[in-house]
Amino acid sequence: MAQIISSKVSFTKENVSLCMCPQCPVQGASKCVKGKMSSIAKALERQPLKREDIPGIYCSTGTATCRDLDPSQYCMCADCPVFNQNNLASGQPVGYYCRDGMAK
Ligand code: SF4
Ligand code: SF4
Repeated sequence: MAQIISSKVSFTKENVSLCMCPQCPVQGASKCVKGKMSSIAKALERQPLKREDIPGIYCSTGTATCRDLDPSQYCMCADCPVFNQNNLASGQPVGYYCRDGMAK
């Protein structure tokens, strides 16, 4: 099935490397995210990238495929270069893309 990716934010290796989601407390206790991070180097070699392999850049790829996140914690998107470069503060939703879906 084709991946539906936000037209606002590019799903690129460069943006994945800038994304703050791997350091975010919302994902901090997620075993699912830890598992994906353990094979992230391999996942980044794949072309095209697959959204279910990358536990981040949800502003581009939409809601997290991991189900054990904790959105009561603080979202770090506002501190992220991708957020600022793409002017995501002026769109919807603003942050918590892992929970609320891709940036529009
Ligand atoms: S989208 Fe925001 S809340 Fe979700 S993991 Fe990334 S930084 Fe954290
Ligand atoms: S704005 Fe949030 S979801 Fe998008 S790349 Fe940055 S930290 Fe990741």
